[in-house]
Amino acid sequence: MIKSLCVFCAARDGDSPEIVVTTRAFGALLAKRNISIVYGGGGLGLMGALADGCLDAGGRVVGVIPESMVTKELAHPRATEMHVVQSMAQRKTRMMELADAYCALPGGIGTLDELFEVLTAVQLKFLDAPIGLLNSGGFWDSQIAMLDMMVQRGFLFQTTRDRLLIETDGERLVDRLSECARDLRA
Ligand code: AMP
Repeated sequence: MIKSLCVFCAARDGDSPEIVVTTRAFGALLAKRNISIVYGGGGLGLMGALADGCLDAGGRVVGVIPESMVTKELAHPRATEMHVVQSMAQRKTRMMELADAYCALPGGIGTLDELFEVLTAVQLKFLDAPIGLLNSGGFWDSQIAMLDMMVQRGFLFQTTRDRLLIETDGERLVDRLSECARDLRA
């Protein structure tokens, strides 16, 4: 169903070894399910863990990185493909073009920016694709509460909120993204 999943996640490790392990396992799961990863191309932090997990399990990882960030430390040296673009704006556009579904794992403001860009594109009907949130260890709980508050206060349609598929289990999230892709195509 889904051939290519765009994954947004942290360029750092954060404070939880468990989240690093979960991220690596999510990469391996996508390899097992034959789903290519499109991501920011980084080799460090959760981005690196995701890519390593997928590559070590025989999967395919496509990075999209701005030229200014392509140094040995930042770009993943083993990525299957690396698209080098000129700006952060071009990166987001290219990542969106290369994938047929999107999801966010724990991350910082870069991850938030990317997640909300795709959710806004769905809201404005520029994009009609599944979007998921892997809520590892309840990381996204306060963000989810904020979205629900926006709905209650009339700033967000429930239908847009409901397009964000939230799961704590990676397998379940991939199943739901696939079901959503099938429903959107029907
Ligand atoms: P953050 O959540 O702030 O750590 O930012 C991570 C997100 O922003 C990723 O999904 C990337 O697409 C992008 N990004 C930020 N920093 C880097 C980096 N050093 N290398 C590659 N991508 C990055």
